[in-house]
Amino acid sequence: LELTEFKVRDETTGKLPFRHALLVELVSHIFIRFFTFKTLKMSLRQKKSVNAEFKESNSEFTPNLKAQTGKTWGRDRDISYITVLFSTLILTCCPLLVFVFWVSCTHYQCSLYEPIYRLQISGFSEKAFDSVVLQKLPQFTWEGIKIYAIWLSFQAIIYAILPAKIGYGQRTPAGHILPYKVRFEKIFRKKTFYFNWWEGSIIHDNWGALLIAANIYGYFLTFFVFAKAYIMPSHPEDRKFSGSFIYDLLMGIEMNPRFGKYWDFKLFHNGRPGIIAWTLINLSFAAAQYNKIGYVTNSMILLNFLHAVYVLDFFYNEDWYLRTIDIAHDHFGFYLAWGDTVWLPWMSHYLVRNTIDLSIPYFLLVLTIGLSGYYIFRAVNHQKDIVRRRNGDCIIWGKPAQFIKTHFVTSDGKEHSSILLTSGFWGISRHFNYVGDLLISSAMCLACGFDHLLPYFYIIYMFILLIHRIYRDDARCRGKYGKYWDNYCQVVKWKLLPYVF
Ligand code: NDP
Repeated sequence: LELTEFKVRDETTGKLPFRHALLVELVSHIFIRFFTFKTLKMSLRQKKSVNAEFKESNSEFTPNLKAQTGKTWGRDRDISYITVLFSTLILTCCPLLVFVFWVSCTHYQCSLYEPIYRLQISGFSEKAFDSVVLQKLPQFTWEGIKIYAIWLSFQAIIYAILPAKIGYGQRTPAGHILPYKVRFEKIFRKKTFYFNWWEGSIIHDNWGALLIAANIYGYFLTFFVFAKAYIMPSHPEDRKFSGSFIYDLLMGIEMNPRFGKYWDFKLFHNGRPGIIAWTLINLSFAAAQYNKIGYVTNSMILLNFLHAVYVLDFFYNEDWYLRTIDIAHDHFGFYLAWGDTVWLPWMSHYLVRNTIDLSIPYFLLVLTIGLSGYYIFRAVNHQKDIVRRRNGDCIIWGKPAQFIKTHFVTSDGKEHSSILLTSGFWGISRHFNYVGDLLISSAMCLACGFDHLLPYFYIIYMFILLIHRIYRDDARCRGKYGKYWDNYCQVVKWKLLPYVF
């Protein structure tokens, strides 16, 4: 009816200039009808029980879809207005922040203050804003899109077709135990070989355009998985609807979106284009530094080494990764989709712009901090992994493992058991593995010297991320394990560091 009306109204011009408007109208109708209106309406009523409400609206709206209902443990449901506000800020400001860093590094030697100073001396005029900021923004190029598309497709295809070991994830809130393709380390080696076909500094040379391409993909992926969760969910009963459109966009609805049996969105984006790109980006920046100054600084080598250790560890122990919060508990939304594709470290970029030669004692100090962090990170995570895999039948620090046997119920009503380790590192604090990560991150920042604040953004970010995770995980585990978790918290009192936090 709307189509006909548009055409009739348009007869005055004799053309069809409204064709685009019509398309926009149709698309926005579909969008508003299917997502926004329904979820915003729910948002307004979220003080009531969102779960019961979703069940009701879902059956009226899409009768065949099932989702977790009732107060099953897992992701948050009753979302406050403050959370929605923060979610909106994250969705909009994070990409802006990435571009601010890019401009600062590319044009002002990574100084955050310099552009502000220049704006200030020009009285924050429109002209100054244009020359200091707008004209310095990265430019879209098809070359950037092409390189990114080749990289992504290449990764996606090898992830789909190459054989791999099958690992199994943790039981989901709906009771599934899903298979994952893990241990691709041989293929990883081959990929670095393919990388040699291009100029070593290719990523550095197209960094701005690649950042734009990655952002476009990050947002596309966010909306794609959001729509997929409604239209063709992989495991419908493992979806979570918070009642807020914005929060669902940020934190995701589907827990394990997949194509087919094995092509897992979360594992793929976390572990393939993102984390491998991290090492390649570093190498490319090292190559760019070599082209620029004729040698590679020891700070760049140190940073490349620390990042590479972390990444190689990921591939070597990929099975372990299936038991982490990212894979076992987080749903797939902007937080992981955009985070995995865009939120890449900036330190190597920093080192290309600022040549830093570290003294040998300082170099060794930073290396020691980094390696100690890595040791803690690996040893703590290994203890949890082994105790879970062997169901408690293992030795920790020379003695039989001590643990609390727990019970929990999945949303299909079935009861399961699990164990919470209370000896070894897990007897010191509930998240001692985060101490390891914080040390590694500090070392990565320290490798960049003390000239600017920008490289230290990474440790600030990691600190906020991990502290927030501690609270998030605590709430989720309490929901899952109830009295067993309370008992565990009495046995292991400290969250991160004994006598500190
Ligand atoms: P954990 O690996 O600590 O996983 C937490 C989960 O483990 C809990 O939800 C619970 O899940 C289970 N668990 C909790 N306590 C115990 C226990 N005592 N015994 C056995 N299982 C327990 O957290 P993350 O996934 O956040 O971190 C994994 C690693 O990744 C860490 O080293 C972290 O620092 C690192 N990391 C790095 C990031 C980066 O960007 N570099 C970002 C985030 C994390 P269940 O429901 O199965 O019981």
